Amino acid sequence: MSTTVDPLVPLALLEAVRSVDMPDGELEAEFVEELRTKRFGLSDTVLAQIRRYNDAVKRSQRLPIEEGVGIAKLIGRRPDAEAVFREAGRGLARQTYGRIAAPTRKLVRALPTMIARPLALRHVRRIGARYLGGGVRRVGATILLDVPVSVSLDAGPRQTGCAFYEAILRELMQLLVGGVGAVEHVRCMSRGEKTCEWRAEWRAIR
Ligand SMILES: [Zn+2]
Repeated sequence: MSTTVDPLVPLALLEAVRSVDMPDGELEAEFVEELRTKRFGLSDTVLAQIRRYNDAVKRSQRLPIEEGVGIAKLIGRRPDAEAVFREAGRGLARQTYGRIAAPTRKLVRALPTMIARPLALRHVRRIGARYLGGGVRRVGATILLDVPVSVSLDAGPRQTGCAFYEAILRELMQLLVGGVGAVEHVRCMSRGEKTCEWRAEWRAIR
């Protein structure tokens, strides 16, 4: 059981909070000082934490998993929790995808499906293991992501927290091969199952 988390995970969660709380349009921008006290994402606390996580990323220093769990709990209490989790998931997918060597990224996009998919799968598997503490396997034309230790499990009502992982998988497949079919949350620990599992379909694009 993994008890640490890559710093990119709490970083992606907090950056999503910040980005969702950012002033929207000129009118809000005028009141930014006032908003800073009302919106958590604009607070000095969040900025300081983001700086800390960026330092940890630079040093490749893993953090106690509780750091991720704590932030996910804060997000889970917000009325817009699901949107924030999805934003965080997309952000984490972009960050981890950006760490794959550029020639490899191009190659996966250019190769025919038959060769591209196993290559893409290998990268989803690596990213799953390092950043999500998860296992990734292929079953027919689908990919299964299994996360036994989730930072966002029960972070909000009705499996809201699980949207984080769903968004990561969806965005990652979209970025890798340029298309993804349905993504479903097939097993969930909040229903008493052993693990949280998502199934994503490859979409035939070539
Ligand atoms: Zn779940």
